[in-house]
Amino acid sequence: MKTERRTSEQREKIFSIIKGSTSHPSAQWIYDAVRKEMPSVSMGNVYRNIRILIEEGRIQGMDTGDGIEHYEAVTSPHYHFICEKCDLITDISMPIMDKLDKKVISKTGFKVKRHRIEFYGLCNNCRE
Ligand SMILES: [Zn+2]
Ligand SMILES: [Zn+2]
Repeated sequence: MKTERRTSEQREKIFSIIKGSTSHPSAQWIYDAVRKEMPSVSMGNVYRNIRILIEEGRIQGMDTGDGIEHYEAVTSPHYHFICEKCDLITDISMPIMDKLDKKVISKTGFKVKRHRIEFYGLCNNCRE
């Protein structure tokens, strides 16, 4: 029972760290942040809790092409910009283009449910 409570405390901590961040942190980053307050947490705990949070639909994971999964508490569809120099990942506030899905449907006949777009380039800090 005691272990169970500690697990859910860890999970809530992990959730609040992800929710409090707009930078789409990796598991390693989350682990470092949790460990500051809960030194007994292990990397395995962090991965397990992340999986559960994803299953519960409270967070989502994304791969920007660097092979590392990044997490965020924004679970509605949105586009991302990724800086190729400093690895900044930022949300783009732009409506999802439903037309794209319809275009692909009419081209292929496939049942398209959603799409994802990542924009790559240089952020304002790295542009100069
Ligand atoms: Zn940058
Ligand atoms: Zn995002």
